[in-house]
Amino acid sequence: MRAEARIDLDAIRGNIAAVRARVGSAAVMAVVKSDAYGHGMVPCARAAREAGATWLGTAVVEEALALRAAGDTGRVLTWLWAPGDAFEDAVRADVDISVSGLWAMREVVAATRAAGRPARVHLKADTGLGRNGCTPAEWPALVDAALKAQADGMVEVVGLWSHFACADEPLHPSVAAQLTEFTALLEHAERCGVTPEVRHLANSPATLLLPESHFDLVRVGLATYGLSPVPDVGDPAHFGLRPAMTLVASLAGVKRVPAGHGVSYGHAWVASKETTLALVPTGYADGIPRHASNTGPVLVAGHRRTIAGRVAMDQFVVDLGDDEAAAGDEAILFGPGDHGEPTAEDWAVATGTISYEIVTRIGVRVPRVYGGTAAP
Ligand SMILES: *Cc1c(COP(=O)(O)O)cnc(C)c1O
Repeated sequence: MRAEARIDLDAIRGNIAAVRARVGSAAVMAVVKSDAYGHGMVPCARAAREAGATWLGTAVVEEALALRAAGDTGRVLTWLWAPGDAFEDAVRADVDISVSGLWAMREVVAATRAAGRPARVHLKADTGLGRNGCTPAEWPALVDAALKAQADGMVEVVGLWSHFACADEPLHPSVAAQLTEFTALLEHAERCGVTPEVRHLANSPATLLLPESHFDLVRVGLATYGLSPVPDVGDPAHFGLRPAMTLVASLAGVKRVPAGHGVSYGHAWVASKETTLALVPTGYADGIPRHASNTGPVLVAGHRRTIAGRVAMDQFVVDLGDDEAAAGDEAILFGPGDHGEPTAEDWAVATGTISYEIVTRIGVRVPRVYGGTAAP
């Protein structure tokens, strides 16, 4: 083992159970885009299904098709489409398709013709995020086009939805404004004759903090993996969540160096006294942020230590002081935190980012190893 990401599938099951307990009758979608935020899509999707996630969410169609290829037959929604994308493959694979504009509705209708079967669509509105989704001004035309395609037997309009900009700041005025706008757009669509199966707005922070945003379905990404989307409000345990990823590496070398010895490129760290250095064989190619140079926390030989010098492509160094360690000993970069190891949130703070990015960026050179009682 050089380095591995240990994924606790029991934690994922427990996190979905915790979300379900919080949302009452609303359904739960586990968002498994970007290889399940770096945790490995198929095993995490299975674990989430076992715990009662009746929906899976993916950003892009390749992800949804990979779930189907792995045998998943449940509801899967895909939302990020570009012209020319594999709409027909999605229709054939029974993937729910988000439609954010008239161009996408035309592509879906063409795909249903080619596939010879109708598609399930979710109409997406931009209620204030300013990203994907049609504007409120475009909404009536999109609803009309969808209802016409539905009357023609080409689509079934099963979802109406939107996405928050600032759910992690519940008092931000945009939160109430988006809820009001979403409600108005729902009312318009329903007045026009849409009978949605699911109306959905909440991501992880909204699921944890804004019960009024739950509607019929919540879309939880980060919470599925046991990280807190609102670390200032509460850590994972505060919300009944447990981090699923533990990133470990075997020390590739340990050596004693004299005072004045420089470490790694640019000698951005120099030993102030004689000390012991440990070499950790992971670097920015594995997703260790280069911004963690001289700041990233690591547990080695039972103590929290800090990266010494620059993170290189494949390796970095930790100053162990006078601690004893040997090549082959385990370094824990982050985990749930119960054994004194840093958390992904600690890395996010150390590097000026969010825990989402810390776990999602772990690279393909790091194998994911699955644990928990029903590991595949
Ligand atoms: C990624 C994503 C989510 C999940 O967000 P989290 O904050 O990780 O829960 C939900 N909905 C959409 C549209 C997304 O892109």
